[in-house]
Amino acid sequence: MSMGLEQFRLDGKIALITGGNRGIGLAIAKLFGEAGARCMLTSRSETPALKDLLATDPDRYAWVQADVNDEDAPARIVAATLERFGRLDVLVNNAGVAEHGDFHDFDDERMHYIFDTNLIAPFRIAREAIRPMLEQGSGSVVNIGSISGLVANKPQLQVAYNSSKAAIHTMTLTMAFEYAGRGIRVNALAPGYVVSDMTAGGIANEEWNPVWTANTPMGRFGQPEEMASCALFLASDAASYVTGALLVADGGYTTH
Ligand code: NDP
Repeated sequence: MSMGLEQFRLDGKIALITGGNRGIGLAIAKLFGEAGARCMLTSRSETPALKDLLATDPDRYAWVQADVNDEDAPARIVAATLERFGRLDVLVNNAGVAEHGDFHDFDDERMHYIFDTNLIAPFRIAREAIRPMLEQGSGSVVNIGSISGLVANKPQLQVAYNSSKAAIHTMTLTMAFEYAGRGIRVNALAPGYVVSDMTAGGIANEEWNPVWTANTPMGRFGQPEEMASCALFLASDAASYVTGALLVADGGYTTH
């Protein structure tokens, strides 16, 4: 069995990345492209960084606008990927949202919104993506979870987010078990605190920032690019015997 460095590449592979317009999703899109993949990105908004990427390499990157919570979004974005690139090898379920608030004040509407976006949409998109992967007999799914699915965050309280991320970790295990014999690997990545729009408010918050930093043994926040390299490993043939794994990339946050 050849175990050369090329197994870390995605040459000839087609990837669908949700939330590929900024933050972790954009970093994943850039690295996957460098690794040889062609990528369909999807998000609600077209950011300047996304426009740049699409303009720089229009053969490699395409974008379809979608709100992942729209009824027709999963079928539409998978169909757009197949139409544009002819197949689908890698799905990265990255789009997600976070909200904070006391458990006893958290209302149903916000609970449903977080679960719809962070769990139900990834479920519906993966369900749609798995079908062509089953026909091909190969595929790889990377679900973006979180350390929030493993421990309660502090000082901010976020029952919906934490529960939704725990659920996507478990969905990952279930999918991995179900498809292991059919050529499809399913793994999850659990980032710690990573610099992005999602954490910008907390990083700027004079109370939260020192707590987040003090609880991260490496003493710093992660960068989106450091999550992209983990996602590339899980997506690539380098992880050919890895399925059902949760790769925690958190600067040591969950070690204590
Ligand atoms: P950002 O807030 O920077 O990006 C969120 C992404 O999700 C955007 O691309 C956004 O695009 C997309 N998105 C959100 N809601 C929807 C929707 N309804 N339909 C389509 N797209 C949507 O966050 P990050 O890059 O930090 O987060 C990416 C993933 O990583 C998320 O799943 C997050 O939970 C997870 N994560 C992040 C951590 C961190 O510290 N940053 C830590 C642990 C996990 P648009 O708004 O244009 O639609």
